[in-house]
Amino acid sequence: MRTAGWQALLVGGLALIAAYYLVLTLGTSWAGAQVALYTSANGTVALCAALAARRHPAMAGLALLVAASAIASIFGDVTFYFLALIDGEVDYPSVADAGYLCSYFFLALALLLAVRRRTPGSDLASGIDAAVVAVSVGYLIFEFVIVPTVVVSSRNIATLVSVAYPVGDIMLITAGARLVLGAGSRTASLRLIGGYLALVLVADTIYSVQILNGTYRPGNFLDVLWMTASFLLAAAMLHPGAPHLVTRSAAAAPEATTGRLAVLAVAAVLAPTIMIVQFLRGVTPHIVLAGVVCIVLFLLVLARMGGLVRAQRHTAITDGLTGLRSRRFFEQALHAETARAIRSGREVSVLLLDLDHFKTVNDTYGHNGGDRVLVALAQRLTAVIRPGDLVARYGGEEFAVLLPGADLEAATLIAERIRLAVAVAPIPVGRDRSHRVTVSVGVAGLPAAGTDADELVLAADQALYAAKDAGRDRVVLAGVAGSPAVSFVEK
Ligand code: GH3
Ligand code: MG
Ligand code: MG
Repeated sequence: MRTAGWQALLVGGLALIAAYYLVLTLGTSWAGAQVALYTSANGTVALCAALAARRHPAMAGLALLVAASAIASIFGDVTFYFLALIDGEVDYPSVADAGYLCSYFFLALALLLAVRRRTPGSDLASGIDAAVVAVSVGYLIFEFVIVPTVVVSSRNIATLVSVAYPVGDIMLITAGARLVLGAGSRTASLRLIGGYLALVLVADTIYSVQILNGTYRPGNFLDVLWMTASFLLAAAMLHPGAPHLVTRSAAAAPEATTGRLAVLAVAAVLAPTIMIVQFLRGVTPHIVLAGVVCIVLFLLVLARMGGLVRAQRHTAITDGLTGLRSRRFFEQALHAETARAIRSGREVSVLLLDLDHFKTVNDTYGHNGGDRVLVALAQRLTAVIRPGDLVARYGGEEFAVLLPGADLEAATLIAERIRLAVAVAPIPVGRDRSHRVTVSVGVAGLPAAGTDADELVLAADQALYAAKDAGRDRVVLAGVAGSPAVSFVEK
């Protein structure tokens, strides 16, 4: 099997990390080489991102922002190195910090740009999921990093910059969660970016804790995490599937899988757990904030559940292929409408439609061709009926129309309009191929056809059969209740 470029890059990355740690053992006289090796990770990111921008114009914006982020980070590292060379000790904060903070900013922008391209409309479900993760992790970082930092630091500007790092992490996790949890293709590039974010967040958090405890030593194991993260990001840019990072998602919202619900459950219980842990450690948690966080999480989870219930209901009453109402919904509406019509003495009519010789369509153009005809037919039906009327997919290639308030004459007119709208132009069934289809329609109305919904549908069905028998492509009216007689509508 051929090794792909991105895989070779990861192996090369490991070699560079090993070389970096080797050179670290040689002491400070090798500092230049150490910095060069360390920045090679972000250098690779910048290179791969620039390459991706050139190769795939569609993802140029994303790739250039990633490159800018890597370059800002390199600027931070190199500046820090020169400041250390010149002054011995580097002041905190320094120009280097500006580079690091810009790097966060550019990367968050890159992630948000990808989100925008994948799901241009508002994807509320993913927004809520990302908010749950962001609020929980944000609270975690607040309690364990930001609060202790503010307590320990004395100089104002230094405190501000120290707090800016965890805030940058919160920004990244928010944008990253929105990207990873949002709808869109789950390619290797996306997973590599997910890995990058996870590693950076873990490393940044450990770094902050070590700084607070005074245990941080430059060149410790954290550099492996940061460098590995960078190589993952570089591989994400180099991967042949990278352009799919900005491909528009086919679905507007992601599926509510068990894995996703597990992630949300863990995220949602994180905040109350932190409260308990802090309490047990003897650290007073910020009760008001913790309470607000729990309330926000609770409301977010409720909103998410509301969305799922709505989606579930929509699926139950919608036909998956045509987007029309389902038979179940039609029958509920029919019963409600006939009961109302009988109570108020109003009229109600029903049309049953069946495509003529549909088996031939399937046999000639395949099942997919047949499906296209059904979808196009649904569109033509919807275009013809009035607001307030209901079109449903009643069976495989049978459709039903409920016309509240329509007497037989009005219903017949609509039926004839539908018949003409279907027959008027051939329907495209494949590339450069179209097929002319016709429908037969049975019309029945209350009170003429009977006394309840079942009798009404039965009468429409009999009229439909009469239309088929009479040669198809026609509208037939059901007779008066009790008599099988039907009337043929003049074409
Ligand atoms: P007629 O004029 O008598 O109605 O002839 P017909 O060939 O249309 O006969 P019938 O109504 O019995 O045919 C139903 C066909 O519709 C058979 C089935 O394969 C096809 N069908 C049912 N549901 C679907 C579907 O979802 N997609 C496709 N492509 N075909 C379907
Ligand atoms: Mg049929
Ligand atoms: Mg048919």
